[in-house]
Amino acid sequence: MRHSLFSITLLAVQLSACGSTPESPASAEDARGGGAARADGARGAVPIVIAHRGASGYLPEHTAEAKVLAHGMGVDFIEQDVVLTRDGMPIVLHDVEIDTVTDVAQRFPNRRRANGRWYAIDFTLAEIGSLNVRERIDPRTGNRVFPDRFTPANVRFGVRTLEEEIALIAGLNVTTRRTTGLYTEIKAPDWHREQGRDVTRAVLDVLERYELRKRTDPIWLQCFDPGELLRIRQDLGSDLKLVQLIGDNSWGDANVDFDKMRTAAGLAEVAKYADGVGVWIPHVVQWPNAGAKPALTTLVRDAHAAGLKVHVYTLRRDQLPQNAPDFAAVHAALLQAGVDGVFSDFPDESRALLKPR
Ligand code: CA
Repeated sequence: MRHSLFSITLLAVQLSACGSTPESPASAEDARGGGAARADGARGAVPIVIAHRGASGYLPEHTAEAKVLAHGMGVDFIEQDVVLTRDGMPIVLHDVEIDTVTDVAQRFPNRRRANGRWYAIDFTLAEIGSLNVRERIDPRTGNRVFPDRFTPANVRFGVRTLEEEIALIAGLNVTTRRTTGLYTEIKAPDWHREQGRDVTRAVLDVLERYELRKRTDPIWLQCFDPGELLRIRQDLGSDLKLVQLIGDNSWGDANVDFDKMRTAAGLAEVAKYADGVGVWIPHVVQWPNAGAKPALTTLVRDAHAAGLKVHVYTLRRDQLPQNAPDFAAVHAALLQAGVDGVFSDFPDESRALLKPR
């Protein structure tokens, strides 16, 4: 039972179907558009809410505390980014560099690389487990990226393994009788390969231990690298729901032509191996100037025509898209655009703002 999230999920669904908890969140989920059945984010239904790195607007990203808070908020999915340690353990952190969210520079001052950065892959799980996690800083300035977020410095937070994270969410699914799914990102597969590691296999091995292997299972697997998603679908034969994350060429940090990928023809190519796309808010809606009405792009229509779900990143109350008037207006525009899901740092507010009126 310990290694069977899917069985646990079925149990939770059966329990709620018994009607023993008429006021339970599971019932509210159903009213919003289908609870576990919404794992596919059906078009026309209420968009799913993905807790981006947990409820990261309120607690340091990817900590157990941020994940538990997100689960308590009744989100549909909780995100976990995955990188590897020196001993090959998949851990839940956003970057292969660990100096922006931990005290590694103070704890291990001599273990940085020539470029001045500290990397997860240079530390064992035991070493990383001894680090304190804190709110994200900009490595160039040392300043906090979101100065208004969680401020107490004397609260200890830790790094979790992917396995611990899945066990935590599975346990909460049982005790709350509610199904919250996983939304797992494989980070920098090419970089890991250069370090002699296969992060994708490590992730799939953990998921397999939890019997997460089918399209109908409550999980989406995401990656920015189209070659890696093709490998997952074709070479590794995975049937999991896949999301092609799409960036912007202006960021200049990928070998992929994301502008081309966002065209109708590009999306039709993506649909050959993926079930959805994860796109940046300005790819769906833009505000040309302050006070202007939102201008929708054709991306959602084109993606739906190709059979792809559209999940949009990242909703942040404290970092609005350019010229957007307020947080509510961003949600209203995305609803109008017909997106199937959103990544949010403030998932409780996103849930409330996306509810049918
Ligand atoms: Ca991510």
